[in-house]
Amino acid sequence: MKTDFFKYQAQTTTFAAGFEVEKAEGSYIYGTDGKKHLDFVAGVSANTLGHSHPKIVEAIKTQAEKYLHVMVYGEYAQEMPVKLCKLLADSTPEPLQVTYLVNSGAEAIDGSLKLAKRYTGREEIISFKNSYHGNTHGALSVSGNEYHKREFRPLLPLVDFIEFNDEKDLTKITEKTACVLMETIQGAAGFLVPQDGYLKKLKKRCEEVGALLILDEIQPGFGRTGKLFAFEHYGVVPDILVMGKGMGGGVPVGAFMSSKEIMDSLSHSPKLGHITTFGGNPLIAAASYATLKEVLESGLMNEIEEKEKLFRELLVHPKIKNINGRGLMLAVNLGTPEFTLDVAKRCMEKGLIVFWQLYRNEYLRISPPLTISINEIREGCQIILDVLNETEK
Ligand code: PLP
Repeated sequence: MKTDFFKYQAQTTTFAAGFEVEKAEGSYIYGTDGKKHLDFVAGVSANTLGHSHPKIVEAIKTQAEKYLHVMVYGEYAQEMPVKLCKLLADSTPEPLQVTYLVNSGAEAIDGSLKLAKRYTGREEIISFKNSYHGNTHGALSVSGNEYHKREFRPLLPLVDFIEFNDEKDLTKITEKTACVLMETIQGAAGFLVPQDGYLKKLKKRCEEVGALLILDEIQPGFGRTGKLFAFEHYGVVPDILVMGKGMGGGVPVGAFMSSKEIMDSLSHSPKLGHITTFGGNPLIAAASYATLKEVLESGLMNEIEEKEKLFRELLVHPKIKNINGRGLMLAVNLGTPEFTLDVAKRCMEKGLIVFWQLYRNEYLRISPPLTISINEIREGCQIILDVLNETEK
């Protein structure tokens, strides 16, 4: 399988691990060699409830027996997408009320930018240095890392980048700004959290000039920081909320949410302001609804703070410089990208899956399923400490 993977499946790097997967269950992924691996990455914050959670599997099976795709997004009323949108409205503060379901995080970002431009009638977008919002042309245009953009220019015009957590830069948001797009917690940059009061000041500035605030919660959303969405920690509500990844609990999905007044502007002048064939697909909606219901009802979110605390207590070592992040999105600074890569490889050999942050490769990524147990956290952290003790640097 590995030979054909490298030969026939398009590669994103020249150094993919090519780990051959047999099955996955709970916090573990099993290789075709029979070895089991504890998963501290959760498909990069996607497997909210662990692998193949029985309630998600059941929801998919039940829906598959009724119907699969029946019509493009937005035409027919189908039970699962309607229930999902209603539960999202019930679980988020006013004025977030209406959800547009799409197929990926990047598409949700593109949709949210179009919505902001259409609603405000403005052209300029403000994003953040070192942000990551996805890889379509639109999402790449508003991501703040030149290395990943350079070869794909020209990208979207009229996008400016401000410094995360720098209040002085807020004056760059003006009456010409359609929207400010911000990751509530910057992911690729090494899980950077907003400083006290920063988000409130950002929101105030947006209100002063009539710009919409879009928060990208594609990673921190769905309980990962102990609240359904991370913005709830910081006393603001965005005009547009973008989600994806963990929303599907293991199936591909994205969505953006706003007030009805804002969202309605996509349905006229022009009509069909954003269209997608598979957005709101009933199978995907069934899995997402089951995930959301379980996150809300299981009490899992109440365990996140304690689990974060345990990670921070256990991961103390002279080779660990600091740990960024909040909840179960933690980035462990090991000093250099080479060392971090080596540690990740050695952890894998010992049966633990860890990864690194997209831009800041010296940070080791820890974003396990929210369902990870206390014993599994202890088991995985011991592997990291053993590897750190074994290595020279
Ligand atoms: N925004 C953030 C914060 C992300 O972490 C990601 C994916 O890593 C995206 C957007 C893009 O999502 P997708 O890969 O589903 O297009």
